[in-house]
Amino acid sequence: MNKLNILIRFDDICPTMDYSQFKKATDLLDKYNVHPLIGVIPECQDEELLIEEYHSDFWNYIKELEKKGYKIAMHGFNHVYDTKTRGNINCGFKSEFAGHSFIKQYEKIKKGKEILESHNVYTDVFFAPSHSYDDNTLRALSKCGFKYISDGYSKKIIRRYGIKCVPCRTTGVPKIKNKGNYTAVFHAHEWVRSDKAHAYNELENLLKKYSNSIKDFDIFVDQPQGNYAIQNIIEKVTVFYLRYIKSKLSYVKHNVLKL
Ligand SMILES: [Zn+2]
Repeated sequence: MNKLNILIRFDDICPTMDYSQFKKATDLLDKYNVHPLIGVIPECQDEELLIEEYHSDFWNYIKELEKKGYKIAMHGFNHVYDTKTRGNINCGFKSEFAGHSFIKQYEKIKKGKEILESHNVYTDVFFAPSHSYDDNTLRALSKCGFKYISDGYSKKIIRRYGIKCVPCRTTGVPKIKNKGNYTAVFHAHEWVRSDKAHAYNELENLLKKYSNSIKDFDIFVDQPQGNYAIQNIIEKVTVFYLRYIKSKLSYVKHNVLKL
């Protein structure tokens, strides 16, 4: 592994997604011969992702991407938030998984995996909608044969309940220094929004500047695991900062200091 390693992740891949925006992404990724991790929703029922007519060739398309070197992850089950729990690491009180019983989560994950496998898509990588998961999610994933999640605020990979938690420390593109492991997250369907259009340029800049440091998932995760106790503290401190300090600092900056 090099000093600097970057994983590119695309979320919210489903048969009714915005294909034209995602094509913009794949064209750019092709240009730089980069293979991202893509999060496929097994049975999407999220109305925000009902953008195009259902593409009946969706699963063939996914297999084509896989053949090209893309890594497929399971991204939730139906992408519908049905609890008001925030889970282990995120700030918002909405989740598809956190707060549900182990059995309920196990059933969702098992069913999602079965749907993927019915289309010949096999994966041991998962990430939850809105980064929202709890210990029961990890236990259920482990029982269903998953090996990785792309989530968590540790700095190095740690193992919880047999699942390797590959940190994903920002919701978009992280600030990249000259060494370290980073995951950059993109939602192509959001690029049509004026407040999110810049994310396409961020992808382009990332590819231009760092194409040699961008790794396929299987290579990216071949990095030393961190010390659990230390990494657990890093994650807990980060979660505390994001939940209780960051918003107060930003309030002071905007409303008191008027910066
Ligand atoms: Zn999502």
